[in-house]
Amino acid sequence: MSDQDKASTSTHTDALVIGAGFAGVRMLIELQKLGLSAVALEAGTDVGGTWYWNRYPGARTDSESWSYCFPFPEIEQEWDWSERYPGQEEVQRYIGFVADRFDVRRHIRFGHRVTAATYDDADNTWTITTDDGNQFTCTYFFTGLGHLSVPQEPPYEGLDSFNGEVYLTGRWPKEKVDFTGKRVAVVGTGASGIQTIPHVAEVAEHLTVFQRTPNYVMPAQNHDLDDEFRRKIKSDYAAVWNKARNHVFGFPMDPAGRMYDDVEIDAERDRIFEEGWRNGGFHFVFETFDDLILDQRSNDAAAEFIRKKIREIVEDPETAELLTPRGYPYVSKRPPSGTNYYETFNRDNVSLVDIRTNPIEALTTNGLRTREREYEFDVIIFATGFDAVTGALNNIDIRGERGVGLSEYWAAGPETYLGIGTPGFPNMFMICGPQSAYANIPVIIEKVVEWLGRALTYMNEHGYDRMQPTAEATARWTEHVAEIFNMTLLPSGESFNSWYLGANIPGKPRRVLFYFGGAAGYFQEIEKSASHDFEGFEFSRLPVASGR
Ligand code: NAP
Repeated sequence: MSDQDKASTSTHTDALVIGAGFAGVRMLIELQKLGLSAVALEAGTDVGGTWYWNRYPGARTDSESWSYCFPFPEIEQEWDWSERYPGQEEVQRYIGFVADRFDVRRHIRFGHRVTAATYDDADNTWTITTDDGNQFTCTYFFTGLGHLSVPQEPPYEGLDSFNGEVYLTGRWPKEKVDFTGKRVAVVGTGASGIQTIPHVAEVAEHLTVFQRTPNYVMPAQNHDLDDEFRRKIKSDYAAVWNKARNHVFGFPMDPAGRMYDDVEIDAERDRIFEEGWRNGGFHFVFETFDDLILDQRSNDAAAEFIRKKIREIVEDPETAELLTPRGYPYVSKRPPSGTNYYETFNRDNVSLVDIRTNPIEALTTNGLRTREREYEFDVIIFATGFDAVTGALNNIDIRGERGVGLSEYWAAGPETYLGIGTPGFPNMFMICGPQSAYANIPVIIEKVVEWLGRALTYMNEHGYDRMQPTAEATARWTEHVAEIFNMTLLPSGESFNSWYLGANIPGKPRRVLFYFGGAAGYFQEIEKSASHDFEGFEFSRLPVASGR
């Protein structure tokens, strides 16, 4: 933190935003448009959020670049994506470009980790405290904390005794990490592990992958974009956004337009899956059968197709068997996209250890010990996931009306209305908090931020300065979110530690953390509220001016 930053921290602004990732930067732009004074506090030293911290080898998006961005007409025409699925550095650079283009970087205080946020009932003010003791006050308090920003700490004894290097994919250092000629372990085979593994394998002397649950990994089929493709996208960007906003996952894709029962011949189903596999990534989920997450038979067919692919790609039958997911439906855990993932296990310098039957017991001086034996490593990489969605909120001591703590209020799991607000925490707005839509995140952020801009304008026009959801609307939404989840095959992921429910973190209360009714469905819900005077929220005004 610079001296200039330190000297100017005891300010009051209309609004304060935590985080300078996609959500925080987009919110600052909206606040600037509304003419409100604002500051954003960011723990990192640059913008990017997820794309600042997750700089592990191979980190790239699973959303296609041209829809993993904001629909600002000026920026769409100026920015050129280089790849179908851009790497971490490019996405972070894009967020920086947006921040600079709208001149909001000057509102961001870097190197400030927020530890507490306290609402004062008497003067309708939030006081935000950072880890270096600085305090900021504001009327409107926004969290743009990211769904996946608190990595799970390695849950093993002996961490300190290990003499080698330890890395977490979710907290990767800025300096280049060189694995050349080293003996490396990767623990975890979720989306992060799957992207890291092939890169490490290329240079390490030996890579040992410790897998608890095999995943259904789709080939990303990443490639460079050429000028002609970019021109085509830019010539009708409105059509891209129109599709994305009407798509269940916020992608510019058309629905498959068919259900499992619409195709009677197995060979034809296989042809459809083959095409999905060739198109790669989420195209397999969304362009094969529209009932993939609703109909067990549809899902079984997709899962079996992937299993067949694994057996075809992986040469050693025993390794192929270990990599084959069973017992839980495809997509009930978030399916990753990889590049050369299964192929990597054909390399002589890569081995796979099943830690479901042979769990890791502890780290040792020279490596780690499973129930069966000890392994020696120079480097251990933990790709063991995140305390998702609520972790970052619960890490901050947030206190609303009458000093009630958010983490106590959510002791049995989060309850929100629309993933935006929670009762008893006036003027605290979560940009994609728990129970917001599960979909391509920049598309959701854009709509939520627009909605928030309208809500602030509504308050201003009606002479209100305080807004929070009602307990009834919140209870209804929580129930609705659970109902939708239970209509799908997703609940089966619970026994396989799906983070959609918090089931990946020991002791975390189980609650559906997202609205799975689709991006378009979510947009309808938030629009319904906004167009009916923000139905589900209650408004008030402080009787006496606070004098600030
Ligand atoms: P994750 O999906 O939760 O995977 C964590 C992995 O670590 C799993 O294989 C898990 O096994 C294993 N694990 C967890 N705790 C363990 C323990 N105590 N002992 C042994 N193994 C353990 O985490 P992630 O890979 O970081 O991905 C999280 C989410 O971030 C993704 O689902 C995705 O939404 C997002 N992400 C996106 C991208 C992208 O878009 N390209 C890239 C990376 C991450 P179990 O399955 O048995 O629990």
